[in-house]
Amino acid sequence: MAVKLKDDDVKTKLASTEFVFDADEYAHITINEEICERCPHRLCMVVCPAECYELVEGKMKFHAHDCVECGSCFLACDQGSVSWNHPRGSFGVKYLYG
Ligand code: SF4
Ligand code: SF4
Repeated sequence: MAVKLKDDDVKTKLASTEFVFDADEYAHITINEEICERCPHRLCMVVCPAECYELVEGKMKFHAHDCVECGSCFLACDQGSVSWNHPRGSFGVKYLYG
């Protein structure tokens, strides 16, 4: 059965996914904030479909709970800041509606 979303807001659409968190030491994505401070383009903010990257008072913050594991930020970051791993079994994103 198709699920019809009421608006186009990214965060609303993300409600159709669920992310199961693992312990911090097994985080599937980590960033190096010192590298991000020197970044000339911040392409992660452009390519991430889930708006997981946010500038807070000039510092890059990563919000893992909305990640859909597309891998785009890992490919876009040419500065060496993003570390990306597959989540361990039973952790990570679950696509609830398809
Ligand atoms: S593109 Fe990479 S280095 Fe630049 S802000 Fe994003 S994560 Fe940091
Ligand atoms: S893997 Fe995809 S959804 Fe997750 S933070 Fe990177 S670009 Fe965003």
